[in-house]
Amino acid sequence: MSKNQRMAKASSFCDEEEEIYLSVVIPVYNEKQSLEHLYENLNAVLPGIGKSYEVILIDDGSNDGSFIELKKIHEKNNNYKIIRFRKNFGQTPAMSAGFDYARGEVIITLDADLQNDPKDIPLLLEKMEEGYDIVSGWRANRQDKAISRKLPSRIANWLIAKLTRVHIHDYGCTLKAYSRDVVKNVELYGEMHRYIPAVASWMGINVTEVKVNHHSRKFGKSKYGISRTIRVILDIITIKYLLSYSQRPIQIFGLLGLFTGTVGLITTIYLIIMRLFFQMSLADRPLFTLSIFMIFIGVQLITMGILAELIMRTYHEASGKPTYAVKEIID
Ligand code: UDP
Ligand code: MG
Repeated sequence: MSKNQRMAKASSFCDEEEEIYLSVVIPVYNEKQSLEHLYENLNAVLPGIGKSYEVILIDDGSNDGSFIELKKIHEKNNNYKIIRFRKNFGQTPAMSAGFDYARGEVIITLDADLQNDPKDIPLLLEKMEEGYDIVSGWRANRQDKAISRKLPSRIANWLIAKLTRVHIHDYGCTLKAYSRDVVKNVELYGEMHRYIPAVASWMGINVTEVKVNHHSRKFGKSKYGISRTIRVILDIITIKYLLSYSQRPIQIFGLLGLFTGTVGLITTIYLIIMRLFFQMSLADRPLFTLSIFMIFIGVQLITMGILAELIMRTYHEASGKPTYAVKEIID
């Protein structure tokens, strides 16, 4: 099912057609003790913004009874909607589900564990009103472990800013505001929710950031550890590829292939000349093996590039996803 079909299906669940200004999307995985406080904190802020809002809580397969708490919240206040996953799919799919169901003009995401502060929401909204497509929270005073969490995330933030030229300090902060346009135009896979500003930069967006509060975890425990670092590095490679080459994969694979293939070919020719005219033995020349390898790798890379070109075309044509993004049309 394409994203558009999914969104149509999602919105057919909502019977009332009224316009909503703000959707708050919150993934929840085993956060039972935090939820009551979360509700109180949100409720202290959201009615005060004076606009229509909804809060979408996604229970990502919790097994600690979080769902019962969530249901209680919905019964108290039906601005709070609950989506319950069948099993634990992960934070990115949870947010993706929230985005599919969200009807707001502005969509704000936030963690359920009370580490983000709902009091910052008006701040983000104020910035959005200035016309930004994304306002990112920046945990200037982050309350997490230094070595296993803060250091890797610093490096990742630096790297991703360099590679994508979207300069924000804190990709990892869930507290961010997005315009509907952004959210409906990015497909999220793996752990990509962390990189929406980078992923969405393909369509040309205005991004800014504001410093936000951050608290240490009071209840439950973090779902991530140091092992996330490696996955983040792989994600960064994917994002760089998607942004720079997904429309023209042959340009990267082909270039690498041509380079290794040509080097391999030249050295092979050189060795053959040495063998034929200068009676040099090839048996004890590791360079010979290497050259043959390089020719093979070159051919493989070019073939891979051609395949990627075909896949890219199939992808765009099958999903009907355009290769451009329109801001407005004046007819
Ligand atoms: N979360 C989720 N599914 C998961 C892991 C986490 O929905 O598989 C939620 C979790 O309940 C929390 C948010 O994602 O609301 C961030 O998780 P966590 O606080 O563990 O991450 P950290 O703040 O330590 O980076
Ligand atoms: Mg947290």
